[in-house]
Amino acid sequence: MDYKDLANLIFPEAKPVSYYEEKYPERNLPEGAMVTRFAPSPTGFIHIGGLFGSIIDQKLAKQTDGVFILRIEDTDQKREIENGITQIVDSLKDFDIVADEGMTSENTEKGIYGPYKQSERKDIYQAYAKWLIEQGLAYPCFCTPEDLDEIRGKQEAAKIRPGYYGIWAKCRNIPLDEVVARIQNVEKYIIRFKSQGREDRKIKHKDSIKGNIEFPENDQDIVIIKADGLPTYHFAHAVDDHLMRVTQVIRGDEWVSSIPLHLELFKALGFKPPKYAHTATIMKDDNGSKRKISKRKDPEAAVSYYHEQGIPVQAVKEYLLNIANSNFEPWRRANKDASMDEFELQLNKMNVSGAVFDMVKLLDISKTVISKYDAEEVYNKAIDWANRYDEELKNMLESNAEYSKKVLGIERGNVKPRKDIAKWSDLKDSIIYMYEDKFKPVYEFQKINSQEEVKNILKSYIEKHFNINDDKQTWFDKMKDLAEEYGYAREVKEFKAEPEKYKGHVGDISTVIRVAVTGRCNTPDLYEIMQVLGEETVKQRIHNV
Ligand code: GLU
Repeated sequence: MDYKDLANLIFPEAKPVSYYEEKYPERNLPEGAMVTRFAPSPTGFIHIGGLFGSIIDQKLAKQTDGVFILRIEDTDQKREIENGITQIVDSLKDFDIVADEGMTSENTEKGIYGPYKQSERKDIYQAYAKWLIEQGLAYPCFCTPEDLDEIRGKQEAAKIRPGYYGIWAKCRNIPLDEVVARIQNVEKYIIRFKSQGREDRKIKHKDSIKGNIEFPENDQDIVIIKADGLPTYHFAHAVDDHLMRVTQVIRGDEWVSSIPLHLELFKALGFKPPKYAHTATIMKDDNGSKRKISKRKDPEAAVSYYHEQGIPVQAVKEYLLNIANSNFEPWRRANKDASMDEFELQLNKMNVSGAVFDMVKLLDISKTVISKYDAEEVYNKAIDWANRYDEELKNMLESNAEYSKKVLGIERGNVKPRKDIAKWSDLKDSIIYMYEDKFKPVYEFQKINSQEEVKNILKSYIEKHFNINDDKQTWFDKMKDLAEEYGYAREVKEFKAEPEKYKGHVGDISTVIRVAVTGRCNTPDLYEIMQVLGEETVKQRIHNV
């Protein structure tokens, strides 16, 4: 009886690993091409950190003519939800992230390095586990949960490192004959890795983001195949990244402490390890102290939040690129209209410490992004959003598409476009007064609070000055004439020089007209608003005050 016999007894059906090595050959890609993967569990939920990682995955693959894979890690079947994969695929698609290879829905996939769902790869993992057993590098473990509790109890009492290692690894040295007898006796078991590491020795690792790091070697005999026949994450990821010919792993910081184990697994399996990049966790400022953005506490942890709010994809991606590489911001300043695809992301320029998520900054980027859209783009994007999230806005916009595009075109497409809209969920409120059937004005005329004065100003304006055909300069000159007529300065600076001479200035007068026409004190350019509303509506609204 030797290791080979044991391996055959445990996995009689498993193919030789050479079969898989040939089936999934090295990829024929240009020098420097990166093969990356995003590997979520099928929980249907993508955390902002996951989106961050997948943006980097996709960008690096694209930049280097490589391949970006979407792999689903469903070996922990407790965490699964119905349609979890499709939801992940769709959420990524909402951010224009479509993998080159991998899962495309619950049960469909593309690419020849699959299956891309771990639960479909059981045979593959078993083949490699079998190979490890043959080499004497893995063994069956018969410990029951009670046995493991007992070990833990003893370790705690003696205040020593917990885990299944060294002398604590009870099943590590069971004689082969006994092992075989127990298996034949249908005793339950799992498969453990037989670590060759020693805690008192160090390994060095060069992380693509963190640079050189040193850790004690791994010495834990971790589980590689569980009782249900499925692998653990550690084992599965090694086999998958090898066979999918992944060259660069990008994953969250929380995995960095697994590096000694992962490197040891790669070595034991005879695989060349990929490069690893551990990205800093995105943090949240919680009343002055930093903590991780949490799925439980923070709505902005879920990427669906940004979609529901209607923050444009481009803004979210630009913001995340900006967290990723601090040189993105100066690049953007110097290349205002360039597509962000032109920015070259570099792993060695990644932030090593965790950036604090800054919603104000994101919304600021979003305002700039939206300010660059023309009326047609705003219309189309807003309709897309409203279709899913706001029926009233959809109806408003669609009731008269031509008119709506004029409304959306106010202060847009010029040198200094309006920058007041940060998300599509803000849009309705910012244009609603342009729609007659929704117009519910609040008349607060600010400085001028005499009803009579307001009435007189409005009356004079309509009777003497208002002409829809005036150009902007004439329109404004007339506003000044009106101001002068009522004892207000034509220019703000005249008023400031001699405030005692005037009741106010032209701004106070135009506020009266603005409030009458829009029901608001703050709006975009009033001249443009009047042009879009048209003569009749302007007159009617002023008359109704
Ligand atoms: N399935 C792991 C996770 O969801 C993937 C980690 C990795 O990228 O290797 O965290």
